[in-house]
Amino acid sequence: ATEDIKILLLENVNQTGRDILAAQGYQVDVLKTSLPEDELVKRIRDVHVIGIRSKTQLTARVLREAKNLIVIGCFCIGTNQVDTQYAAKHGIAVFNSPFSNSRSVAELVIAEVIALARQLGDRSNELHKGTWNKVSSGCWEIRGKTLGIIGYGHIGSQLSVLAEAMGMTVVFYDVVNLMALGTAKQVPTLETLLGAADFVTCHVPELPETHNMIGRLQFEQMKHGSYLINASRGSVIDIPALIDVMRSGKLVGAALDVYPAEPGGNGDYFTSDLNLWAEDLRSLKNIILTPHIGGSTEEAQSAIGIEVSEALVRYVNEGCTLGAVNMPEVNLRSLTMEEENHVRVIYIHHNVPGVLKKVNEILGDHNVDKQTTDSRGDVAYLMADISDVNASVIKDLYQSLEGLSSRIMTRVLY
Ligand code: NAD
Repeated sequence: ATEDIKILLLENVNQTGRDILAAQGYQVDVLKTSLPEDELVKRIRDVHVIGIRSKTQLTARVLREAKNLIVIGCFCIGTNQVDTQYAAKHGIAVFNSPFSNSRSVAELVIAEVIALARQLGDRSNELHKGTWNKVSSGCWEIRGKTLGIIGYGHIGSQLSVLAEAMGMTVVFYDVVNLMALGTAKQVPTLETLLGAADFVTCHVPELPETHNMIGRLQFEQMKHGSYLINASRGSVIDIPALIDVMRSGKLVGAALDVYPAEPGGNGDYFTSDLNLWAEDLRSLKNIILTPHIGGSTEEAQSAIGIEVSEALVRYVNEGCTLGAVNMPEVNLRSLTMEEENHVRVIYIHHNVPGVLKKVNEILGDHNVDKQTTDSRGDVAYLMADISDVNASVIKDLYQSLEGLSSRIMTRVLY
């Protein structure tokens, strides 16, 4: 029953998320901070659901103690803080919120395009120091200029719409053929984009293929007097090459939100101790340096709270794994609790030959309305809706499935 579900939320998870979980009738315990490992190990033992942000480390050692845990909600973008493979092998699903902050990033980039075109950062810094320096030389409107978007995914495509509304021409490059929004145009090569764009902005994932994707050769291919923006991942730009091309005057502005190395907390860390060339970046003109705040808005936090909580509710109540980062994505139509004598069987198991035959021998004695299964690596996830069952049948089903050697976790929802 929902009131038996125990949830522990750490790191001050957004109120929107807490409200959705509490409204389900679950027992929700909320802490403002993360917990040190020893305390976490104690607290995690009796909870079914844990919600964290980026600081709580859910290592194999911690998860080993989590005997009742069925699902982890990461109320953030990344999931590096969780041993997702260990979790999958023990039937614990992991959810996150990869796209709730796309709009926030796109808006930041629009702001940066204008700020760079008008050298706003420099003028503001000068006046902060007391210097009045009114200039128009080298300052531009963005209307009629070309924005080149590398990676036309959630952020890139959102940005495309905003940029056109400001009167910019948009070209984009992506490894996948995508439908262009508005009058944007996909170009066949990165080189074509670099040769056409006044502003180049990167929105690709961190991958071996995107490592130093913009380096010396690409800077040569860019237009004289152009600008570069990176709010994707720090590994995408060859920073020493960027410093050289800005010093040469070919690139007249840049905005960086992400860096090859980033500190864990706030403080005076942007020095050569962190990144060898940090001081060089700080000394450049018309470069906007921000501390990975692309997605940091109140709206994004609230959207993350809603998205992750809703995924947790769907998983707890219905076993739906859509959006899970470590499990096959499996779903059937919503479970109608009103229908009597109906159960949904979830059988998470090792993906070994012959397993479905054994499962179907157990389920086959009953009226299976619908059944679906999928696997991801070693872990497979089966969902079956069964009608005409009573309490003793439910117990039998559960015990028979639990008795199979392929079993990771069995859940019977009714
Ligand atoms: P997404 O997955 O929706 O889109 C990425 C796009 O890049 C896809 O269309 C993909 O086909 C394309 N792509 C992949 N490899 C490519 C390559 N080699 N060349 C060209 N295109 C390629 O991702 P998203 O949500 O739009 O995020 C984009 C980036 O922004 C990610 O790196 C993400 O981590 C980062 N991000 C940063 C912040 C921030 O705070 N600065 C916030 C959110 C996301």
